[in-house]
Amino acid sequence: MPLRSRLALTASLLLCATLLAGCGLAGDTSPDAAEPGTWRPASGASAARIAGSAQVGPTTGHAPPPVVAPAGPVHIKRHPGVDCAIAKCVALTFDDGPGKYTEGLLDLLARENVPATFFLLGQNVQQYPHALQRMVTEGHQLGSHTFTHPDLTTLPPERVADELESTNEAIRKITGFAPDTVRPPYGAHNGATDRLIHDPLILWDVDTLDWQHHDPARTVSVAMEAVRGGSIILLHDIHKTSVQAVPELIGRLKGQGYSLVTIDELFAGTELSGGQALTRRPVGGQA
Ligand SMILES: [Zn+2]
Repeated sequence: MPLRSRLALTASLLLCATLLAGCGLAGDTSPDAAEPGTWRPASGASAARIAGSAQVGPTTGHAPPPVVAPAGPVHIKRHPGVDCAIAKCVALTFDDGPGKYTEGLLDLLARENVPATFFLLGQNVQQYPHALQRMVTEGHQLGSHTFTHPDLTTLPPERVADELESTNEAIRKITGFAPDTVRPPYGAHNGATDRLIHDPLILWDVDTLDWQHHDPARTVSVAMEAVRGGSIILLHDIHKTSVQAVPELIGRLKGQGYSLVTIDELFAGTELSGGQALTRRPVGGQA
């Protein structure tokens, strides 16, 4: 082969190698390259949901990401190998936010690779659109906690409907989708409210009373005494002391072999209906 041809071939091979290395690098750093069962900060689907929502959301001071696909509700499954019908699963749930401590909590959860479920107050979400967008991209679940936090059992039907619809609309404006679970304030519900609520009612079996005592150590000890497989733990991200309890609580739960999951993951494989109230997922046939 003439020298000039050999040089041309060598140059071509070098170019190919460079391109391939570039492709390989991009693949390795993609969120979707994470191993199954590990936490993934943003799947293509959830990123697309955010991208779609950026067109309708309020101005947040952040440049809108490019629109890559239509928005739609997708929940990231971080524990695809965990069957919460038999495994020791537990769901951390945070009520009454978002608030000024919520993004700090999201930072903690990201560091611990732990998903949570946030039952949001409609009246708070407009003030913290970035927190909601992070919840979605970082794989957490969003639920409704009504707009103004009333006892729904004391309201006429039209006010109950308005509390639910206005909250869904406020969340939809920011994220592009409405939540599909409800936590009634104070856990208060009755036959009349259950008929008006078209999504499952997610209550809890572990009440840390964090809002009352504001003691991180007590929040952890109360939770650890009451938790069992399938539990739903109630916390409030509007209190600094509740957020401060989270790293220790997560460490203790993981240490006892619990898989920390979202509400959707906790009840995966079961049929839930509108107005049905749930306090935990029975595990291994227990009541
Ligand atoms: Zn509440």
